[in-house]
Amino acid sequence: MAFDATTFPLRPAWTEIDLGRLRNNLRLIRRDLRRHVKLLAVVKDEAYGHGALDVARVALEEGAWGLGLSTLEEAMALRDAGITAPLLLLGERQEAELEWCVAHELTVCVNGPHTVRQLARTAVKFDKRAPVHLKINTGMSRYGVRWDEALPLIEQILAEKSLLLEGAMTHFAQSDETDKTFANLQFSRFTSVMGALERKKIPVQLRHTCNSGAFLDLAHAHLDMVRVGILMYGVFPSQVCRRLPGIEPVMSVKAKIAGIQKLKPGEVVGYGMRYTAASERRIAVLPIGYGDGFPRVRNEGAVLIHGRRAPLVGGIAMDALTVDITDIPEARMWDEAVIMGRQGGEEITVRDIARLKNSVTYDVLTNWRLRLRRKPVNAGKDPGHRSNIVETPVAG
Ligand SMILES: *Cc1c(COP(=O)(O)O)cnc(C)c1O
Repeated sequence: MAFDATTFPLRPAWTEIDLGRLRNNLRLIRRDLRRHVKLLAVVKDEAYGHGALDVARVALEEGAWGLGLSTLEEAMALRDAGITAPLLLLGERQEAELEWCVAHELTVCVNGPHTVRQLARTAVKFDKRAPVHLKINTGMSRYGVRWDEALPLIEQILAEKSLLLEGAMTHFAQSDETDKTFANLQFSRFTSVMGALERKKIPVQLRHTCNSGAFLDLAHAHLDMVRVGILMYGVFPSQVCRRLPGIEPVMSVKAKIAGIQKLKPGEVVGYGMRYTAASERRIAVLPIGYGDGFPRVRNEGAVLIHGRRAPLVGGIAMDALTVDITDIPEARMWDEAVIMGRQGGEEITVRDIARLKNSVTYDVLTNWRLRLRRKPVNAGKDPGHRSNIVETPVAG
């Protein structure tokens, strides 16, 4: 039998990507922006684990100006799939990557004189004018030319006839906490450079500084465009930033019960015998583990089954975790369990998983492994539209 992803049975553990919610989140974000402010949908790292191509298509349909990416491979995959919108490559490029960028109209962020020179030369070779976005380091101290040394680099870009200074940008080190002192200092450094350009009558079409946190909390910094990642996926960048009502998480992680065990008092579960039943217990086995990105906890956390919380018992294995379903007597083989997401009135949030992992929500979203296949649902243009993707029944 040949392997064909469309008819192959879905493994009984998967990530579900609700494209209807993604669309709705994008509409809420667009509605919150003043009309002239453009949206760069950040889809780096496979759209934070949601699948870059599906997310890119929805974001562009919902009016995004372009897409933000991190690696050349990510950008080329979208070009190969027929995406013609502007693709902005964040970070720094190696010399060997520049020909690809020019040939495939990928917009490069420039941070220093060497890349400016090399990119200009490459553009001449292709007989093109390459748009660039100048990255200004205003205090984050990652990429970018220092704000107080930016003008000579700007002069250099302007002197290269094969380059177009399309954008200027900076990135905040902390935009989603209550104290905005450093973000405001960074913004004032950025605007001082922009003011100098205005006085010299140097036009820059797209000035952009905001990630999700700054989009929510620093409206005065929106300028011409905002770069939104995590909020589009329905997760707020922090617990204290402004809430946008109606934003909902796009990704869920689900699995089906693949085994049920009855324990007598004193019997144990899993590697290392980390759980001992104090009384008669009913245990469900879910075929998902740390090999899928679930944090390697023991006797901590819960999943949802029949809309109720079933606590994890024992340790997490590579391919399996075990939960106590004694209080959910109706649970049967192949019933659906929610590892992250909602069921009934209950929810396991991305932040709940981040807490188990001792990490941040960004890390949780991007680190579900690909052996959990992505199942897109609600792909229609109406956000409330039901899925037309038929789930392959799993043999019981
Ligand atoms: C990743 C990234 C963003 C998006 O950040 P979110 O907090 O996910 O909105 C914006 N700008 C740059 C430069 C980034 O690297």
